[in-house]
Amino acid sequence: MVSKMMIKLHSGIRFRLAVIFLACFTMMATLGAYLLQRNLHSNFLEIEQDSAIEDVTRVIYGLNNELRYVKIIISDWGNWNELYQYSLDKRPDFYTENLGEQQLKTASLSVVQITGRQNEIISYEQQGLSPKETSAFFSAQKNRAELATLMQQPEKRVCGFLKTVAGLVSTCWRAILHSDGSGPASGILMMGRLIEAQHLQLMRDGSQLPFSIVAPSPNTQIHWQLKNVPDDFIGHEVSVQFSDKTLTLHYPLYDTNQNHIYDIQLIIHRKILSEGQGIIQNISIQLVSIAMLCCAILIIYLHYTLVQPLKTLQKTLAHVRAEHSWSTIIKQGSDDEIGQLGQEINGLLQVINNQVVHLENLSLTDSLCDLANRRSFDLQLRQELNRCKRLKHPLALLILDIDFFKQYNDHYGHPAGDLALKTVSNTLKSVFLRLTDLPARIGGEEFAVLMPNTDEVGALQITRTLQASIERRAIPHEASKVSNILTVSIGLVIYKPQQSQTAEELIEQADQLLYQAKKAGRNQICMHIKNADI
Ligand code: GH3
Ligand code: MG
Ligand code: MG
Repeated sequence: MVSKMMIKLHSGIRFRLAVIFLACFTMMATLGAYLLQRNLHSNFLEIEQDSAIEDVTRVIYGLNNELRYVKIIISDWGNWNELYQYSLDKRPDFYTENLGEQQLKTASLSVVQITGRQNEIISYEQQGLSPKETSAFFSAQKNRAELATLMQQPEKRVCGFLKTVAGLVSTCWRAILHSDGSGPASGILMMGRLIEAQHLQLMRDGSQLPFSIVAPSPNTQIHWQLKNVPDDFIGHEVSVQFSDKTLTLHYPLYDTNQNHIYDIQLIIHRKILSEGQGIIQNISIQLVSIAMLCCAILIIYLHYTLVQPLKTLQKTLAHVRAEHSWSTIIKQGSDDEIGQLGQEINGLLQVINNQVVHLENLSLTDSLCDLANRRSFDLQLRQELNRCKRLKHPLALLILDIDFFKQYNDHYGHPAGDLALKTVSNTLKSVFLRLTDLPARIGGEEFAVLMPNTDEVGALQITRTLQASIERRAIPHEASKVSNILTVSIGLVIYKPQQSQTAEELIEQADQLLYQAKKAGRNQICMHIKNADI
């Protein structure tokens, strides 16, 4: 039973449509989600890259500000008659007045170094650095080939970073000139500013970027190009390490001798990508939901416009077949293909109904005499009897048999016999004009007439009229032993409600009366009503 239902369910249009729609819409939604993921994911990666490059550039510019600060001060100090003079004659009072520890503090500098024309150190003052760092600055100055040219190009400044024990120092060198900018240069002035930890923290707080200055890390495979780095920065790309949650960017910081001394390390949480993934996921879920909704709407729509009308049609047809109700007219709900199918089925049902009615008529009619046949007579007798019982009406029944008909056939031939039968049936039709009366041919030359709601007086009267009518036809019958024309014998019986005979009893009684009429000499009516006073 269950497996039968499953087979029925599986073979149903609705199930198949549901499977096809579900497959198609799932495919569409998956494809949509895949395309979204493919296109948007790369877009989000690009946005993430642009944002990370922007962040690292901001940090670089933050450090560049450190350099700019030193640049501004060195531009100011470099053109200074007194310093110029000091670098030549090394006046100690100038040193104590302008290059002492306090002055460095005021100018927010960590180191000031003055070298003479022979590259000899004239003075070196530092604050917060180790005394040993002097040689580092000096060797940095010496190693840098272009520093030598500073003496010839007085306006030129060389700036960059230096690695010291205390940390990263932003430095600048330039030639020492007169206050009006005229030379020749008397030496080289070098200034440096240690970028302290708390200063870095301030930069971090100000920029909201969690960067740090770390030891150089090994290069990664992936590098991003920086579009916009300040002139004094050598590196033009940043190396990137990816993890699921973070991006680690390393921007190399070089010293003035182009040694890779530090990395700016910036760890960025991949918020853009995770938010992007969230957006993609949400859109994908919405896409799948919309696809499922469309699928459900389509299935419901098809259920009401296709499956249900077809089911109704099928049920109606099953009912028509089971009940043989060929006259059923299928209602058309719409003008679509199913409506047209219904119209065609209605047409077919009409044809079947006509055929059935025709066949039924054939099966109930005697073709020779065009009268109801025995079968029809039996059916009508039962129906009429039931009705008369219900309504307490009388019912008359006669059975008529042609006398010596065998001899008639023998004498006149079978075709003439047929003609005589037709004449008798026409006579019956002409006598019994009430719609409720039913004349029938119930045997070879035997006829019967059913007369509902007719009492014995009326029945006898019309039976006599019948007999007289047949007589009037005066069909010659030379072979008859009772007359020279065709005669009939009739048994007439009346059903009375109080006697309540069955159909079989009525026929039996009519037959007996007919037999009595034959026995009594034929060409007569014999009538008998049980317990009756006729
Ligand atoms: P009775 O007076 O006792 O009624 O004798 P009968 O000869 O009329 O009755 P019987 O039963 O002996 O013969 C009936 C005849 O009716 C025999 C048959 O050939 C004839 N017959 C029956 N059906 C037809 C028919 O359709 N056409 C013709 N021509 N004759 C028929
Ligand atoms: Mg007979
Ligand atoms: Mg007869």
